[in-house]
Amino acid sequence: MNDAPALTPNSYRDTWCGQVLDDRVGSQVRLSGWVHRRRDHGGLIFIDLRDRTGLVQLVFNPDEAGGAHELAHGLRSEYVVSVAGEVVNRSEETINAELPTGRFEVKVKETEVLAASETPPFEIEGFHGEVGEETRLRYRYLDLRREQMQEAIKLRHRLTTAMRTFLDGEGFLEIETPILTLSTPEGARDFLVPSRLQRGSFYALPQSPQLFKQLLMVSGFERYFQIARCFRDEDLRADRQPDFTQLDIEMSFVDGEDVVAVNERLIEHILGEMGVEVEIPFRRMCYDEAMGRFGSDKPDLRYGYELKDLTEILRGTEFKAFGGVIEGGGQVKGINFGQRELSRAQLDGLIDDAKELGAKGLVWAFREGDGWRAPIAKFLSEEELKNLNEAMDAEEGDLMLVAADQPAMVATILGGLRTRLAERWELIPEDAGNEFCWIVDWPLFEFNEEEDRWDALHHPFTAPAGEFAPENPGGARAQAYDLVWNGVEIGGGSIRISKPELQAQIFQTLGISDEEANERFGFLLDALKYGAPPHGGIAYGVDRFAALLAGFESIRDVIAFPKTASGGDPLTGAPAPVDDIQLREVGIELRKKKLPGQS
Ligand code: ASP
Repeated sequence: MNDAPALTPNSYRDTWCGQVLDDRVGSQVRLSGWVHRRRDHGGLIFIDLRDRTGLVQLVFNPDEAGGAHELAHGLRSEYVVSVAGEVVNRSEETINAELPTGRFEVKVKETEVLAASETPPFEIEGFHGEVGEETRLRYRYLDLRREQMQEAIKLRHRLTTAMRTFLDGEGFLEIETPILTLSTPEGARDFLVPSRLQRGSFYALPQSPQLFKQLLMVSGFERYFQIARCFRDEDLRADRQPDFTQLDIEMSFVDGEDVVAVNERLIEHILGEMGVEVEIPFRRMCYDEAMGRFGSDKPDLRYGYELKDLTEILRGTEFKAFGGVIEGGGQVKGINFGQRELSRAQLDGLIDDAKELGAKGLVWAFREGDGWRAPIAKFLSEEELKNLNEAMDAEEGDLMLVAADQPAMVATILGGLRTRLAERWELIPEDAGNEFCWIVDWPLFEFNEEEDRWDALHHPFTAPAGEFAPENPGGARAQAYDLVWNGVEIGGGSIRISKPELQAQIFQTLGISDEEANERFGFLLDALKYGAPPHGGIAYGVDRFAALLAGFESIRDVIAFPKTASGGDPLTGAPAPVDDIQLREVGIELRKKKLPGQS
């Protein structure tokens, strides 16, 4: 990690640890940093000194180092010291090939202890997987001293810098939007902040800068971006953070093609800066095709194992479990997972997997001759089995997994199995490159069965493609695009509605009354009346982007001070109760918990 920043020598240092290389041999250097490791060879004391740029070995010789050697006796891990001495070559046998500075050492003549350290609760060198997350986060400032974390945070910086450089070069202006604001609908719950000056009123923290970026387009800035903090109060879901960072972009006088084109160049630039080459333009896939072939709106295209539609082959089958579903408007689909040897317990395990994904059941079968080896084989005719094998390109011994349900559920089950099993059975080829894909042609709305109404699939400001027919919301398509990278959705956006009448119509379709629309979004509807240019944009999840680049599973590893999966911060103790006085000032009284037996 030798990325030494420019240095103006001062009384603490004139050289970074990572700069103790060939060209310094024979010269005097002054270094400062943390004691990474100390080895006392009775007489000679060795210390690895660490700063932001890396490690260097210090040697304290009792004959030469005098008082410095005395001090070195008392040094412990993580003490902060400043030393001065001469850079020398190490003897052949002591060269450490793993360290960039491993051929050199500093013979120390002067030492100053700048700060002592208690024994850290975990070793800074150790692999972080061995330390519990609570402990890591409780002592995050120490956790962040680890090389791996230092690298992750630096990478994140390089990532956001690359974003800024590219967008600045393209004439985008970085404009900040408010954190204390009014609710923006991105589909999650808002975090609320009570107002002291207007008791009983609340700010909401932004779920995204969506409406402000649209207003900036009405204001004529034409190209905006922001590395924006966003807040969504969601239920616990794996690897979500209540506050997270988006790269938020908006442009005027553009259509979807323009947004896609500039964003492909953005991604090419960013990844290029990170040493990853990608080819643009990226491929595109319609939402329906992605759902149909991969059972997912963020398909991982590094491997096949596509869903095959078996509905027509099985229409009219005697086997009720399939026939009944098809009659009820459902589908039967399957995936051929190729030759696999699985025990009965493992096969049953797959059924459990499917049930976890919401399936009522799952059929497994191996091709055997022209038929199937499967518990349900006897219920299907020879003809049906032959056709199924053909439709699934099954060869002798291939494992097929088949699901029958309503189309959305079939996609969830088989798409879910496809992703899980790709991991479990290591189906992603080792030499697979990066697969980027735009998912386009999204439905504008989805029907919310529970609440018996239409919801916006992206958000209510997404423009429909073509004429909007309010009588058929299910048929409306959106001018929306999501960018998927190796099966992860890294960004999504759309062309926005720029006409107030159309925006009002969409609100109506969503069951938002005029009154409510005015109350919540009146400012947007007003703004659209004053000459709103056609506009559109996109937002990327910066945390996820950084985690993918750094090769971390969790976004928590690329956030300096993240929260735990349950939204807590073990470092500061947030969230925490507040004083009665503070509550009174904002006019809030907490409800007393009911005692057992009280009504
Ligand atoms: N505001 C959207 C989001 O946060 C992104 C966009 O439409 O630009 O997901």
